[in-house]
Amino acid sequence: AIMLSGVNKWFGSLHVLRDIHLEVATGERVVVCGPSGSGKSTLIRCINRLEEHQKGRIVVDGIELSGDLRSLDAIRREVGMVFQSFNLFPHLTILENCTLAPIWVRKMPRKEAEALAMEFLTRVRIPEQAHKYPGQLSGGQQQRVAIARALCMRPKIMLFDEPTSALDPEMIKEVLDTMVMLAETGMTMICVTHEMGFARQVADRVVFMDRGEVVEQGAPAEIFSNPRTERLQTFLGQIL
Ligand code: ATP
Ligand code: MG
Repeated sequence: AIMLSGVNKWFGSLHVLRDIHLEVATGERVVVCGPSGSGKSTLIRCINRLEEHQKGRIVVDGIELSGDLRSLDAIRREVGMVFQSFNLFPHLTILENCTLAPIWVRKMPRKEAEALAMEFLTRVRIPEQAHKYPGQLSGGQQQRVAIARALCMRPKIMLFDEPTSALDPEMIKEVLDTMVMLAETGMTMICVTHEMGFARQVADRVVFMDRGEVVEQGAPAEIFSNPRTERLQTFLGQIL
């Protein structure tokens, strides 16, 4: 589970997260949407401490995020993240990309790490790519590797930051299908995405952010058919 309470963050004098209260239960799937610059990436980056918040509390799976390095380490083990740009290591094979962290961070024996990686590469339906390099794969395939790589660390929570927005349309579906598959396993997920079909299909809750605030949240049906604020109405008008 994830709990944010009264979270504030500034970049210099720019107030990018304003008093965020958000709870995500274990097994819950939350979609975060909102205009560009509203603080979506910053929010999820604070959850695995790629960014530091300055005020308020963030508790992830019982671990309070603080300056303490041990808590940082613990969080990074629990939380997997997938970015818009796939961030694979270009000089490592797909298999090596997937086994690197399990071997060096989790201290898993190589054989075991490779078996686990093959299991997840099979799950995302690209086991045959294991010995290629990222540059030899399509964007959709690379993003599925990024998902498999994150899963190899056996995270309890997965964060996605616009995982399909850098992809050509024909590759979006294969990545979304992978995310749906993951949702069906009961994974706790926070996904920043504007793929509203995905939101309708898997989200328990949609959170709408604007200018650093959570403006509205609710079940997808409620959010999409019954936006209460003008800000959400305007936003939906632009993306739907
Ligand atoms: P997008 O939809 O474009 O990805 P977003 O909702 O993810 O937008 P953020 O990336 O979280 O928005 O940015 C929120 C605000 O913080 C923006 O005004 C952005 O310019 C600013 N910002 C983000 N990262 C930094 C940084 N490292 N230093 C200074 N300002 C930043
Ligand atoms: Mg962003």
